Amino acid sequence: PLDRQQLGRNSWSVLHTIAAYYPETPTVDQQKDMVQFMALFTKFYPCTDCSEDFKERLIANPPATQNNSILSQWLCAMHNEVNVKLGKPEFDCNLVNQRWRNGWKD
Ligand code: FAD
Repeated sequence: PLDRQQLGRNSWSVLHTIAAYYPETPTVDQQKDMVQFMALFTKFYPCTDCSEDFKERLIANPPATQNNSILSQWLCAMHNEVNVKLGKPEFDCNLVNQRWRNGWKD
């Protein structure tokens, strides 16, 4: 059976990695595509509770697509909203590039 935790971990990994490598100077089309991507990802996300909840969050707080760092911060805040809802600790969004792009320093 589909494991909601595993699906979630893997999905966040894809989403944060995509945000980390999103362009620094996206075209208008790339910005529109990113808004669409988030909406479509949510539409087909195979956890109905999660997707209904996330769809509402996207309406309240639409993707900030100006550049990769802004998109990464937006996604971090969205993930933190879900963390709070699930009783998980909030992630420090200053560390998002270390976690999802550059790797941790020793
Ligand atoms: P996860 O929350 O999966 O996080 C994985 C890793 O990401 C963490 O180990 C950490 O290194 C990093 N991380 C954590 N927070 C952040 C952040 N804010 N920014 C950047 N990196 C971070 N589950 C439900 O039960 N109900 C829901 O409504 C629900 N909605 C979801 C909506 C979406 C769009 C997604 C992708 C998942 C949803 N999930 C939901 C799954 C849930 O968020 C977790 O993925 C799952 O519970 C497993 O949690 P985890 O503790 O392994 O860490």
